[in-house]
Amino acid sequence: MTTQVTEAVSLKRDYYHLIINGEKVESSNGKTIKTYNPATGELVAEVAKASQEDAERAVLAAREAFDHGKWRKYPINRRSQVLNKIAAIMRSRFNELVELEILDTGKSLAAAQGQVSQAIEDFEFYAGAIVGHRGVVNNMPGQFHNFTEKEPVGVCAQIIPWNYPLMMAAWKIAPAIAVGCSVIVKPASLTPLTAIILGEICLEAGVPAGVVNIVPGSGSEVGNYLVEHPKVNKVAFTGSTPIGKDIMAKASETLKRVTLELGGKSPNLVFEDADIDAAVDGSLFGIFYNSGQSCEARSRLYVHEDIYDEFITKFVEKTKKLVLANPFDKGTHMGAIIDQAQLEVIDGFVKSAIEEGAEILAGGKPAVVEGYEGGFWYEPTVIANVNHDMTVVKEEIFGPVVVVMKFKDEKEAIKLANDTEFGLGSAVWSKDGARATRVAKQIEAGIVMVNCPFSAFPGTPFGGYKQSGFGRELCIETLDLYTETKSIVSYFGSRPINPLGV
Ligand code: NAD
Repeated sequence: MTTQVTEAVSLKRDYYHLIINGEKVESSNGKTIKTYNPATGELVAEVAKASQEDAERAVLAAREAFDHGKWRKYPINRRSQVLNKIAAIMRSRFNELVELEILDTGKSLAAAQGQVSQAIEDFEFYAGAIVGHRGVVNNMPGQFHNFTEKEPVGVCAQIIPWNYPLMMAAWKIAPAIAVGCSVIVKPASLTPLTAIILGEICLEAGVPAGVVNIVPGSGSEVGNYLVEHPKVNKVAFTGSTPIGKDIMAKASETLKRVTLELGGKSPNLVFEDADIDAAVDGSLFGIFYNSGQSCEARSRLYVHEDIYDEFITKFVEKTKKLVLANPFDKGTHMGAIIDQAQLEVIDGFVKSAIEEGAEILAGGKPAVVEGYEGGFWYEPTVIANVNHDMTVVKEEIFGPVVVVMKFKDEKEAIKLANDTEFGLGSAVWSKDGARATRVAKQIEAGIVMVNCPFSAFPGTPFGGYKQSGFGRELCIETLDLYTETKSIVSYFGSRPINPLGV
């Protein structure tokens, strides 16, 4: 759904509260977070900043809701109805959610519209999926019977990043509450607004108090506190690989269930038999969508040597035509970078590449956008003359920067694609279906896009191999990751069982 954005922003306020135990509350110590519009650098709002005391309140509320509340006991169709209602309220406030997301992130209108649409569809998807989520009956010998039940895992801490604030909140909340869990969501401090609004919408739709709690705050304080808390059963984390490793280690103390959606350095392979124009357009989207601040950004572009010159000429020409402007304008292709610190990280990577002898084919520095001089912008950047020893090829940049390289055959393409510690996204461009499938099967990544730049649809598993994490989101399998399987073995024979013969 792509509805025209209106000017009214009734979800836009000067101040946002925490959501704990069904109420909008202040933080215990009165501290706040200021959020800024990355496109302009201007203040958007102040937000109550959760302390560890607030996190404790949220855990106790979630625990109480799970242990003694009614949500998990509701018939499945009733939970399903509530999820559909959440989606309906979100849809009715589509324009406002889009506008708030743009103000909080500086992303382009098209990107925000797509992500808000998908967040809505996630709730609709899980409203349907939960109805078919069930245990099984297993064959047992003799007069025994076994069936399994899927029970909600309990209280879940859900820690999310700043690049897709509402969508990530939806990916986390929808499957967890669908199966009957209670959640404590910790949004990134840079972008807490739409997650807070989603928490409010959950309450409006009839989710009982304590089932959905939203506590924006510091990762090292509040996030860490939730990860270590003995009353939390599961941590679902989306963010960078180093923090993911830290979370996994700390969660092991209490043997929490953990799912990790982490970083990437995804390869994009263009074969000599590809539709070159389609591959150019898809590859542009693959890296520059969301200003390159995407976990699945296809940031390593490999092109067959026979078409390399033609492809790169077209790719660079189009890169230079990308419009960086008012994020609310329909014609804007790329929005802002999340903040000054991230801008400097991106620029540091580019400078290191130049020092190591790389060649900049487009961009290569912070962008000056007329009327938006106070914001954080980076030119869409294409870097050639690189090799696999360079930092810019090995590490996730999380910005609009792509490295381009040649390959000579299928075998080399696969070797280069897999020469990374990450394994999230990947893409293959070829008109030969057999080749595309053969290559797709050999790429070590959770997602392979074939002749297509899109990967995230409700129902399609999303997640990583290797150091891009584990667990899959956005799909039926996710429901299993928010449940425990209980195996019930019963005996229906008429003779008493006396195995010890006493
Ligand atoms: P980040 O790891 O810095 O932070 C993510 C979240 O973790 C934030 O809410 C942060 O406050 C919290 N956090 C930080 N330190 C913590 C700690 N010690 N304990 C608990 N929580 C802590 O990531 P970011 O910069 O916000 O987001 C960018 C990263 O997210 C990139 O690496 C990107 O690839 C990744 N990402 C992955 C996916 C995916 O599906 N695989 C999707 C989006 C983003």
